[in-house]
Amino acid sequence: MKRLEIIFWAALSLGALAIVIAAVTVKRERYATNETQHYTALQRLGEIARIKFHHAQLHTLFAEQAQREEKHQAARLFRAIAFSEDAQCRQCQEAIKNLGGEFITPIALERNIASTQENIHRATKLKDSHRTAKAYPMILKSIASGNRYVTRILVWCDADDAHQITLLSTQHILEDSLTAGYYYVCPKCGYISEGSVATPICPQCKTKEREFARF
Ligand SMILES: [Zn+2]
Repeated sequence: MKRLEIIFWAALSLGALAIVIAAVTVKRERYATNETQHYTALQRLGEIARIKFHHAQLHTLFAEQAQREEKHQAARLFRAIAFSEDAQCRQCQEAIKNLGGEFITPIALERNIASTQENIHRATKLKDSHRTAKAYPMILKSIASGNRYVTRILVWCDADDAHQITLLSTQHILEDSLTAGYYYVCPKCGYISEGSVATPICPQCKTKEREFARF
């Protein structure tokens, strides 16, 4: 009887020890997974922020070229896009900061600027290839990781690119007149609305119209 009791208590102790070891292992693995996901989220935001930084600079140069050619409508659209790209870059930077990371501002690149007509084509192509090669795969991976905060920012940035492609394809931007209305840009998420009046509220981030920048 005494021997059976010893065996019983020994088995119970071993069982308890196995449970503790398993729990510690699971906790460590979960911590490691969270750490990896966190690092990946910071990398994604950093990559998009760098791209947006360069795109903002490029569209500013496009706007200056359009101004030189007196293509006023195109100049306004390029300035609005540059402001939008900058807003998206700042939004990514803020998210990086909130997640405990740091954004290092890249060095501005040397650019060859062509005619406005060519620049419109180049801007459209650039956004198209960025969406296919970078944004889509990144959004899908971010959704799979379950990080809704980062996913929302990536989706907003991509929606801005899609909308900008539409604006770049409109016929009137190569006209010299200033009669085609204004571009209103949300300073938080970079959404651009076009027309004689701004949309009262940003459809993406709900920022009020009074905060929009007008071009
Ligand atoms: Zn917005």
